[in-house]
Amino acid sequence: MDAMRLYLINPSNPLVSIVNVKESRWNRYRVWKPLSLMVLAGLTPPEWETAIVDENIGVPDYQAMPRPALFGIPAFTSPANRAYEVAGYFRSLGVPVVMGGIHATMCLDEVMQRADSVVTGEAEGIWPQLLEDARHGSLKRRYDGGLAEMNGVPFARHDLLNGGYAFGAIQTTRGCPLNCIFCSVTRFNGAKYRQRPIVDVVREFRSIREKHVLVVDDNLIGTRPEHIARAKDLFRAMAQAKLRKKWIAQVTINFADDEELLALAAKAGCSGVFIGFESPSPEGLREIGKKFNLLKGRDFRASVRRIRRHKILVVGSFIIGLDIDEPGIGKRIAEVASQYGVDNLNVLFLTPLPGTRLWDQMTSQDRIGLDTFPEDWKYYTLTFPVARYKHLSLDAIIDEMICCDRHFYSMSGIARRVWTNLWQYRKPLITLVGNLSYRGNRQLNCKAYADLKRYWGNRHNCVKQS
Ligand code: SF4
Repeated sequence: MDAMRLYLINPSNPLVSIVNVKESRWNRYRVWKPLSLMVLAGLTPPEWETAIVDENIGVPDYQAMPRPALFGIPAFTSPANRAYEVAGYFRSLGVPVVMGGIHATMCLDEVMQRADSVVTGEAEGIWPQLLEDARHGSLKRRYDGGLAEMNGVPFARHDLLNGGYAFGAIQTTRGCPLNCIFCSVTRFNGAKYRQRPIVDVVREFRSIREKHVLVVDDNLIGTRPEHIARAKDLFRAMAQAKLRKKWIAQVTINFADDEELLALAAKAGCSGVFIGFESPSPEGLREIGKKFNLLKGRDFRASVRRIRRHKILVVGSFIIGLDIDEPGIGKRIAEVASQYGVDNLNVLFLTPLPGTRLWDQMTSQDRIGLDTFPEDWKYYTLTFPVARYKHLSLDAIIDEMICCDRHFYSMSGIARRVWTNLWQYRKPLITLVGNLSYRGNRQLNCKAYADLKRYWGNRHNCVKQS
C-alpha cells in the first residue's frame, strides 16, 4: 500500500515576540518544540508518512509541498486565527482537516465551523481510530478523547523535528488539582494528577537529541506526599540512567520544602525551575485561588534560596491586573521578585482564557475588552491586556508592565544577578541569556503595546459610531 501523507502543523502567532527569532537572537532559547504534535506522530502507524511543520521556526511554501491525505492542526487560543487560515487553504484543496487541543475543546462551535473533524480532550485514545476512519474516507465530525491512560502515551517522535531548537521537550505528568481561577489545566487535563510510567520517561529522555530539555508538565512534582515520592523515584531513575541532560521544569513552591527532593532533582540534571508566585500579596493569591502558596509560615525568599543552593535557577512568574492591583503594582512586583532572589522574572497580564473560571467571571461581569472572536484571539497570549481591570485603565496597566520590566531588567540588576551566580553557583551564562532575552524583547513589547492601544481605540470608536 502507498504511504498516506499526514501533515501536522504548529501555527504561529505573529504577535508573540518570543518566537521572533530574527529580531532578538536570544529568543532562540525560548522557543519550545511542539510536543503534542510529536506525540501524535508517535501514535501514527508507519503506513502514514508523517511530517511536522513548526511555523515558529519558519513558514514553508505550502503550495510547493506535496498534497497530503490528511492535515492535522492543534487549536490553541492565541494562534487560532493562523490555524484557521492554514486549515482554510488545505480545505480549499479538498484535503480533510482535523483540529484538536485545548481551544477546540473550549470553543467547540467556533472550531467545528473551520475543520472537517474536531478532537476534544486528549487525543491519544482516539487518534488511531481517527486515522483509520480518514483512510476509509469516513472521518466523523467529532471525536472525544477524554483523558488518556498515561501508560498509553506513546514516545514522542523527537526525530521529526531537528535543528533550530535549543531545547528538546518531554512530558511526564498531566492534570492538576489546584484549579487556579486563570488556568484551564484542571478543566482540560483533569483534577487528578496522572503520571507516566518512570521507565517510559527515562527511555524517552534517552531518545532526545538536544542536551537541554524542557519538561512541559504543568507541575512536575505534584502536591501530595505520593506525588513527591513518585518524583523522587523518577529523579533517582534518571540519575541512575546517566542521561547527561540538563532540564528545566515547572513546579509549585513546595519543591523547596524537601531537601532530598532538591538533591535528587539536581542529581538528575535539573538546572532551572519556573515557579508561579502570581501575586506579591496574600489577598492577590486568595483572589486567584492559589491558596497553595499561602501555606502558613511560607517564606518565599528562603524557599528560593534553598532551591538555588542546589545550583537550580529560579524563574518567578507573576500576574498583573488582579482586582486588588492598583497603580504601583509593577514596581512592587519587580521589588518583591528581587527580594525573593529569582534569576528571571516573567510577568503576564491577567487573561481570561476560555474554559477558565476567570473567563466565566469576567464574561458575566462584561469585562472582556477584546471580544471580537475569532479575530481577537491573537491578543490572548497573556502578554497583552485584553480585559477591563478594576483599578487599572489600559494605559495604566501597560505602564505598570513597562515599569516592572524596566526595574527588574535594568543593566545593574542583570549584572548583579549574573555576578551572584558567578561566585555562588557558577551558572552565569543561562542567567545572562535569560535576562538578555527578556530585556531584548522590551522594545518589541513597547511597539506591540502601541499597536494594541491603536487597535483597542479603533475598536471602541467603531462601537460608539455604530
Ligand atoms: S496554574 Fe499551575 S497550580 Fe494552578 S491550576 Fe494551573 S497548573 Fe495547577
